[in-house]
Amino acid sequence: MNITPLQSWLPFKDYFVIAGPCSAESEEQVLDTAHSLKKIDKVKLFRAGIWKPRTRPNTFEGVGKRGLKWLQRVKQETGLKVCTEVASPSHIKDALDHDVDVLWIGARTTVNPFLVQEMANYLKGKDIPVMIKNPINADLSLWIGAIERFYNAGINKIIGIHRGFSTSRPSPYRNEPLWKIPVEIRQKISTLPIVCDPSHIAGARNKIQELAQKAFDLAMDGLMIETHPNPDEALSDKQQQVTPRQLSEIIGSLKLKQEFSKDRTFGDQLTILRSKIDAVDKDIIELLKVRMNIVNDIGHEKSKKNITALQKNRLNQLISERVLWGQSLDLSHEYIDEVFQVIHTASVKKQTDLMNHNTFS
Ligand code: PEP
Ligand code: MN
Repeated sequence: MNITPLQSWLPFKDYFVIAGPCSAESEEQVLDTAHSLKKIDKVKLFRAGIWKPRTRPNTFEGVGKRGLKWLQRVKQETGLKVCTEVASPSHIKDALDHDVDVLWIGARTTVNPFLVQEMANYLKGKDIPVMIKNPINADLSLWIGAIERFYNAGINKIIGIHRGFSTSRPSPYRNEPLWKIPVEIRQKISTLPIVCDPSHIAGARNKIQELAQKAFDLAMDGLMIETHPNPDEALSDKQQQVTPRQLSEIIGSLKLKQEFSKDRTFGDQLTILRSKIDAVDKDIIELLKVRMNIVNDIGHEKSKKNITALQKNRLNQLISERVLWGQSLDLSHEYIDEVFQVIHTASVKKQTDLMNHNTFS
């Protein structure tokens, strides 16, 4: 794909930042944020959601078309370029009528090829940059498919936005970063600039810095960070928005790692392998939990019959059996022995605690 180089339409040094509120709420809030952001050198694009896709109805669904006038004022007063989320041809029409500079497709829209195609068709013959967020689910082809639909409609100024993926696994983040997906898309479409949106990955403002640094370690081109003058009062995504001052601090703390940016392939390869390890370790931990639940059930049975938690024979038999299983997979005797001693000790402790609890309660 012959995507237009970012520098030709959005010049910056090292990296750039897209900032602004999750949602435009009032003219005052929009202008106040934009004037503060204008003072931050790295901020090249002002964002604000005008139409908000919300999980439940009867929550704040954006101010709608009238907010586009506020974005026009941002352009006039600060000179910043502005962008907003669109999810239908009629949104695009309104945005273009109000001189919006860049459009973005939200994660809930990228999942829908019908809508994406309708919007791409509407944009035929128009020259406007489009940023495409990854779909909510971790489906690389769906993301690439949406990019192709716009590209095939003649849109050449394209940016991919990595905003994390919804997951049913327990996670410290609102959306799992799954770093290997943005790395893989860059391998498949080498000309695609990628911006990381740590706000929607984190879901909490105190995790934005570490995620932004990680995006830099992977040599991403920029960041999209939700910024609000008074985040705790925000009408959407209040936990993850930062003030312009906090944004400045985050930007000031980021370190560009030359060794990684020089050799993208090495960093990328390492990330793919590390995320595989992360997935395997999560499986191991989930299985340890399943095992511990069984240990717990056994503990209850033993306690009813007054049997001790530790039974020497069972331990010896358990270890030697596992050592054999391990050896058949080329895992050393010492390794498996050590791992299962630790697992078994934790099980005995669990059962002893349970029995003591039963005795004294
Ligand atoms: C947003 O940027 O405010 C938004 C709704 O994002 P996403 O599509 O990533 O959920
Ligand atoms: Mn948001």
